[in-house]
Amino acid sequence: MIESLMPIKTFIFDLNGTVWRWNTLAPNTENVISRLRKNRKKVYFVTNSAYFSRDQIAQRLNKFGVDAKSTDIVSSGYAAAKYFESESITAVNLIGGHGLSEEFDLLGIENDADSEHILLSLDRNFNYTKLKEIFDRVQDGAKLYTAGMDRRFYIGDEIFPAEMPMLKAIKEFVDVPILNLGKPSKNMKTWLLEDIFLFPEDTMLVGDDLDTDIVFGNMCGFKTSVMLGGNTTKKQAEDASGESRPDMVLSGMRDILKRL
Ligand SMILES: [Mg+2]
Repeated sequence: MIESLMPIKTFIFDLNGTVWRWNTLAPNTENVISRLRKNRKKVYFVTNSAYFSRDQIAQRLNKFGVDAKSTDIVSSGYAAAKYFESESITAVNLIGGHGLSEEFDLLGIENDADSEHILLSLDRNFNYTKLKEIFDRVQDGAKLYTAGMDRRFYIGDEIFPAEMPMLKAIKEFVDVPILNLGKPSKNMKTWLLEDIFLFPEDTMLVGDDLDTDIVFGNMCGFKTSVMLGGNTTKKQAEDASGESRPDMVLSGMRDILKRL
């Protein structure tokens, strides 16, 4: 465990459950982020929310009074698009929100329902028929990818299923590998380190989920802080071991100011 955040030069925040619950900002967030920047710390955001584009996410942060540009955000939708671009794949069947295709459009990758590459992400209209369609496509040789493996997310105080329940349904039906391109994956690490100039040893990843955020931060060689709340209890944080063990436990955004 570490006590002080003074040596940290770069802060990377998870969004859902850490910075916001989509329609509510975590208390003191604007204050903490502007203080970090005043202290000449760099601030970025990393999210498995592929439902929205980085531009839409930046606009939403701005609306809440948090200064952010789309280039301050690394989303799993963006990292997935970069993956397919790097593999010279020009058409992908995108399953998810409208913001996802925006990231692919920017790189000139077509959203094609007949592509043999199927990218799964949060799909609010996932159903029995789609499950059957995915099964049939896999029988025909399609490959499956996902933009995240989160179990749940918040909108305000209400909890919604994220990708994992959907992935589990698919896995139960068609037993093929599903390549994760979001947190915590090598792909997400590649594009984060490509886009953001940082030194891992003085970078802190702050997130609310041990299995995605903390594993990812440790994978990148960053220091890690878990934010207690919806996804992680104090006991779970203390009991965590190996790759999911955080360096610091925070009970809220204000804790960051106390440790600067
Ligand atoms: Mg989170």
